Amino acid sequence: MITKEIREQFPILGQEVNGKPLTYLDSAATSQKPISVIETLAHYYKNDNSNVHRGVHTLGTRATDGYEGSREKVRRFINASSTEEVIFVRGTTTAINTVASSYGRANIGEGDEIVITPMEHHSNIIPWQQLAKETGATLKYIPLQADGTISLSDVENTITAHTKIVSVMYVSNVLGTINPIKDITEIAHRNDAVMMVDGAQAAPHMKVDVQELDCDFFAFSAHKMCGPTGIGVLYGKKQLLDKMEPVEFGGEMIDFVGLYDSTWKELPWKFEGGTPIIAGAIGLGAAIDFLEQIGLDEIEKIEHELVEYAMERMSTIEGLTIFGPRNRAGLVTFNLDDVHPHDVATVLDTEGIAVRAGHHCAQPLMKWLDVTATARASFYLYNTKDDVDALIEGLKTTKEYFGHVF
Ligand code: PMP
Repeated sequence: MITKEIREQFPILGQEVNGKPLTYLDSAATSQKPISVIETLAHYYKNDNSNVHRGVHTLGTRATDGYEGSREKVRRFINASSTEEVIFVRGTTTAINTVASSYGRANIGEGDEIVITPMEHHSNIIPWQQLAKETGATLKYIPLQADGTISLSDVENTITAHTKIVSVMYVSNVLGTINPIKDITEIAHRNDAVMMVDGAQAAPHMKVDVQELDCDFFAFSAHKMCGPTGIGVLYGKKQLLDKMEPVEFGGEMIDFVGLYDSTWKELPWKFEGGTPIIAGAIGLGAAIDFLEQIGLDEIEKIEHELVEYAMERMSTIEGLTIFGPRNRAGLVTFNLDDVHPHDVATVLDTEGIAVRAGHHCAQPLMKWLDVTATARASFYLYNTKDDVDALIEGLKTTKEYFGHVF
């Protein structure tokens, strides 16, 4: 599909905002949804809506087939070895919290170490802070290099025989850094630690193969990859998940319930207490179909060309600072002179351009960058060079506006 055809699949992009054609550059926060996903959700609610796993009636069977069919699509998408390893959760945040609460509480104690990096999203910091406080474990950080990457020698020096869990983001939502997950996993395993990957900014944009990475846990959210909000995935290796306790108890996840004791269903359902996110999972399946139709390699190529073009054009704007390494995923985080990023985003909005401004749920990283906030333009498969050009014009307008006022 050429970009024009791809764009036509996203009805939301055809609108005007503040009298200008919408330029949507906030896909790292959440992506837009193609018509096939929107129609899959509508079709499900119009035709098949029912609870799963229980009913013997036809609608119940259709809903169950759709839900479990999506699990198989996810398994293929990340190349998990079995659908037992694919757990539907609310999103990346819930996936990481599940591992911290279940695996963490059972396997971490005083004197143990949890290793993360200062570039993590809050959802890959706070669960580990809480676990460390609860258990008396130590939270350690792999230091960042000046360009916002991590070096393997620093990884080697930080992970020790006391390390029990390493949790690192695959792609930074602020710097665009692509971390060497396979190598970090190898170092973690050499020290008998398990490796958790925050894949929220990776799964939508590049081919992920959990067996190739050899990570123990992998988390991602559907809403950043053309799917609905409220659904995401926790991948875990079967031998670890088998030994872990559920974190939510109730319907759907039980085998036998007595007055004083109960037993759990087998994987993956023991981690899916309550009525699951049925429509969401089916919508995620449709999103995977859509992404695979275009191809993850093609998506990566589109974004790479856009980010290269954006970096080149943005570097010609005087007073504009770009944060993060040269080689990066499809986003550019920046600040413009002394203008507060919220003001940058507000002026850009008057031009119909949507960018994010703030701390991007990465306050420790903001401190490391020595800024309170930044602006961020992020690209996805439906963006074009015209969007980058609109951003450049918008930034020039912003400069003129503030140059004029002050
Ligand atoms: N990790 C990263 C790198 C992210 O970018 C995000 C979303 N901004 C999250 C975790 C959290 O994802 P969610 O809010 O979907 O749980």
